[in-house]
Amino acid sequence: MKLVTFRHQGTELTGVLNQEAGNISPAAAGEDLVTLIGTWQESGPRLAASPAAPIPTAEVELLAPIPVPRRNIFCVGRNYTEHAKEFANSGYDATASASHLPEFPVVFTKAPSTVTGPGAAVDPHTAVTSELDYEAELGVIIGTGGRGITKENALDHVWGYTIINDVTARDLQKNHKQWFLGKSLDTHCPMGPWAVTADEVGTAPLDLLCTVNGETRQKATTADLIFDIPAIIETISAGITLQPGDIIATGTPVGVGIGFNPPKFLQTGDVVEISISKLGTLTNTIGGQQ
Ligand code: MG
Repeated sequence: MKLVTFRHQGTELTGVLNQEAGNISPAAAGEDLVTLIGTWQESGPRLAASPAAPIPTAEVELLAPIPVPRRNIFCVGRNYTEHAKEFANSGYDATASASHLPEFPVVFTKAPSTVTGPGAAVDPHTAVTSELDYEAELGVIIGTGGRGITKENALDHVWGYTIINDVTARDLQKNHKQWFLGKSLDTHCPMGPWAVTADEVGTAPLDLLCTVNGETRQKATTADLIFDIPAIIETISAGITLQPGDIIATGTPVGVGIGFNPPKFLQTGDVVEISISKLGTLTNTIGGQQ
């Protein structure tokens, strides 16, 4: 099932997307996606079995599936081997050590106010950064929460998936050592275009493609994650209780802007498109509406 959050006639709603029919069956007013995920045993079958009168997709503005997460988005850094190498070699990794491959998952977060939707403008924040970069990532959405979740049980806690662009201000990431500032500028977490339930996505590796103005920059498979989704969930939940609707960005593959010589930073007007198999395409323009 594909779930979308959208604005229709001034009202924000969540609903089930029927791509073939080009419409959305809305949930009740006030039932946002995090609420639905928290009651999925009841709400999931209800949404699947008794669709409400559909709204044509053409009449709505899609928003991020979870426009305002309850708390920070968990993120994993340096989680693809070739990207870990390009980051270490770029000179932008203030934590670089002799080994560019992490021994343990590198976990940081992005503020909830970073989230923006499909088609929305990404603020270039030219007053504070001149080194804007993209990071195409598979996003995991937690269903049943918990602490001390083991790898073996981890996928039972995954509600679904979405696409995330972990937009990064490289100069801030480098200068301030700790990554939070460089990762958390407003609008620097495009998400969407929808959220897809885990049963529809399955467990096979997903193909990921990122283009900037049509030029391929990142092309990878999630089979190449250094720490896979169960390992990430086990690590984070060891001492932090995961909650329904928590989001985890799993890391980006090789091909980010700082991997090039000279670096290819994003400029106003650039169009970043991220496609992941079974999850659609997330498109955002730097500094402007599409
Ligand atoms: Mg990232």
